Amino acid sequence: MCVGYFWHDFTQTPVYFANSAEALLQQVVGQNFIDQFAYPILEEIHQQVIGHIGELFNAPDKCELIGTATVGSSEAIMLGLLAHKFTWRRQREQTRQPSDRPNIVMGNNVHVCWEKFSLYFDVPSRVIPVETNQCILTADQVAKEIDENTIAVSCVLGNTYTAQLDEIANINDLLLSVKQERGWDIPIHVDAAIGGFITPFAHPELQWDFRLEQVKSINVSNHKFGLVYPGMGTLLFRDRSVLPEELVFDVSYMGNVLSNYGLNFSRPSAMVLLQYYNFLRLGKAGYRQIVLETLEKAQALESKLLATGYFETVSDSNYLPILVLRLKHPYAHPTFAVELSQKLRERHWVVPSYALPLTTNTIQVLRLVVKQNWTFDMIELITKDIEEIMTCY
Ligand SMILES: *Cc1c(COP(=O)(O)O)cnc(C)c1O
Repeated sequence: MCVGYFWHDFTQTPVYFANSAEALLQQVVGQNFIDQFAYPILEEIHQQVIGHIGELFNAPDKCELIGTATVGSSEAIMLGLLAHKFTWRRQREQTRQPSDRPNIVMGNNVHVCWEKFSLYFDVPSRVIPVETNQCILTADQVAKEIDENTIAVSCVLGNTYTAQLDEIANINDLLLSVKQERGWDIPIHVDAAIGGFITPFAHPELQWDFRLEQVKSINVSNHKFGLVYPGMGTLLFRDRSVLPEELVFDVSYMGNVLSNYGLNFSRPSAMVLLQYYNFLRLGKAGYRQIVLETLEKAQALESKLLATGYFETVSDSNYLPILVLRLKHPYAHPTFAVELSQKLRERHWVVPSYALPLTTNTIQVLRLVVKQNWTFDMIELITKDIEEIMTCY
């Protein structure tokens, strides 16, 4: 049976009761997610959460959508890619072709958990170095690496280095023509850990999700912009055919049968419940409002920092509330960025500095993640601190 999922859209500005959310957490902190015998409503709520997120990601058929809550995006990505490995192998075996040399194609802008998948689940990776200055994966690059043994291609909706978005629609077009011309049906897994709760609200017209035919699975970190605490992620498959049945365990537990696709047995239920609470309490309108406000703050911070004259931006604060900045001449040498990061930490700002994964040149950047709890005061304060530090050079 297919449950009806729907997002509330309030006519008035929704009011968020943080205290009620905290009270809910305290009540459920002892609940084990696997203990559905004691808490039969948990699975219903879990499915509702998946349905809500599926709607955000434009799943073509809500009744075919399938997914699971995880501990974070790392588990979600590994489980998603594992399903693609099994699907690829089954297709190869059915057509009596060798199935012992799978590969996975990814940019070197991916999160470390993609490399982890490659190592732990024994699928050699073909890592594409991203272009000079642009930390994104493009269709042209992907075209050179894929073959009949490619189990999946990575696409990131906001990478960890520059928060830029890969060319997902173009890569989808490429894979569609490859499917038509050569018969290779290569899936895209979209890593929407960061962007999954931003883009659907701020740029609903942007095509990156299940509207694209080759996008077969997507992960999101609910504990990033989904407004819950660590650790919760979600993995979604566009339909049941993408998740091989042999990977889903029917666990017989206390007289109930649970269908489970995950790496863990016991885990806390609290974040799944809190996520559902937030969906009900805030509705789409509430999330949209928070997202737009957060982007507005990120843009305000960006203009303040650019006005100091010390920085240029690598990220695009139009899309995600994350600023990745590099220091301009005469402060472009990497040591300045590292020192600024250290000096900011002395003033209790956590602004990491790191080098972009570029092969051709070294670009040392600083990253500021603007969350919904940022205030305009904080923007003034950090700008003042940065100016004070920089005038000492
Ligand atoms: C944070 C992040 C991950 C890992 O997510 P967790 O929820 O921390 O496991 C994966 N990919 C990207 C792009 C991320 O930003």
